[in-house]
Amino acid sequence: MRLIRDPQSDGHQFALTGDDAMTLTDSQIARLRADTPSCAERIHFNNAGASPMPAPVYEAVAGHLALECEVGGYEAEARARPALERMYTALAELLRVAPHEIAYVENATRAWDMAFYSLPLREGDRIVTHASEYASNYLAFLQTAKRRGVAIDVAPSDASGQVDVDAMARLVGPRTRLVAVTHVPTQGGLVNPAAEIGRVAREHGLIYLLDACQSAGQIDLDVGAIGCHILSGTGRKFLRGPRGTGFLYVSDEIVERLEPPFVDLHAATWTGDDRYELAPGARRFENWESFVAGRVGLAAAVDYALALGLPAIEARIAGLAQDLRDRLAGIAGVTVHDQGVRRCGIVTFTRDGEPPEQLARRMAGHDVSISVSSAPYARLDLGARGLPSLARASLHCFNTLAEIERFCELVAG
Ligand SMILES: *Cc1c(COP(=O)(O)O)cnc(C)c1O
Repeated sequence: MRLIRDPQSDGHQFALTGDDAMTLTDSQIARLRADTPSCAERIHFNNAGASPMPAPVYEAVAGHLALECEVGGYEAEARARPALERMYTALAELLRVAPHEIAYVENATRAWDMAFYSLPLREGDRIVTHASEYASNYLAFLQTAKRRGVAIDVAPSDASGQVDVDAMARLVGPRTRLVAVTHVPTQGGLVNPAAEIGRVAREHGLIYLLDACQSAGQIDLDVGAIGCHILSGTGRKFLRGPRGTGFLYVSDEIVERLEPPFVDLHAATWTGDDRYELAPGARRFENWESFVAGRVGLAAAVDYALALGLPAIEARIAGLAQDLRDRLAGIAGVTVHDQGVRRCGIVTFTRDGEPPEQLARRMAGHDVSISVSSAPYARLDLGARGLPSLARASLHCFNTLAEIERFCELVAG
């Protein structure tokens, strides 16, 4: 049994029994597949790239675009007010935080950037991270090292390949200001020990920035238990929202100390000829103009996930992915490359004699979508492991064992 806090209610807790919370029923899976028309046509194992929107999400986006045509963009936005408010409360429920700690940003990278570039890092300050960090985040570290003289410390991996938390703690010095890690890397099934890293951050009084782009929507996230101050995510991956949507969580604990890298008339109010005031809470990281139909769709996507329940989504995805790993490992010439103690829905592998790009093209010819992770997008990880590229199959809860069997037959060729 687990307790789930309902942020809408004033501290009221409600309980779900273990069984109800942890399993998707056959009828729920049938419904999921009926809501996902592409299931009838193809095998979609690219949910870490972009997952197809379920019908209610598509209808929310398309419905709003139709309304914009009918009554005009501003007028449509006014009518969509409840859905736009729901986006904040739904994301707050997903992460178990307060709605005013959520900002809408057009993708996860910009969300992460808005927070990272707000941090008051000075020459000589140090950032602790790990080889699994997302490439764009690492590029921002490098740019900040170049511009502001900040130093980067890369914590080693333990024997399993996840962040070595004790070694990370030993790297923390008097000038360390930030711990920034990726919960689930793009290029593998690894789930980093986010809550243990959070304890290190708390112990040393560091700001903790978590990239949850691949975990939001596939893993039950509890920001309180993880202990991060900042978290970024995207709409289109495991949350199954529209492309061009993302979000940022920034804790009340630090937000009033953060000055966004740029502000507009939504993020700030021009209070005097020579003065402005930042919007309270996370809204200071937003900008005025945005993809309104996307925000409406993102709200619908989070509601869709919450209705199924994240514990059940997480359990089904992890179970399917482990089944796929076990079957792939049994195919001659195939090597599975996922690391970590805890693993999720991303499965990476190579096949002797067939480069991943070629394998992915061959799968596409059979209406099977996978993708390829390559070293330039993950230098410190794949580069160090001597892996130029990997085939990546990423499963969602609408996928089935029958699809996994068919996929493995195709891989074995
Ligand atoms: C995809 C991804 C991102 C970037 O998300 P966008 O929405 O494309 O900006 C960031 N971090 C990780 C781990 C990702 O997999």
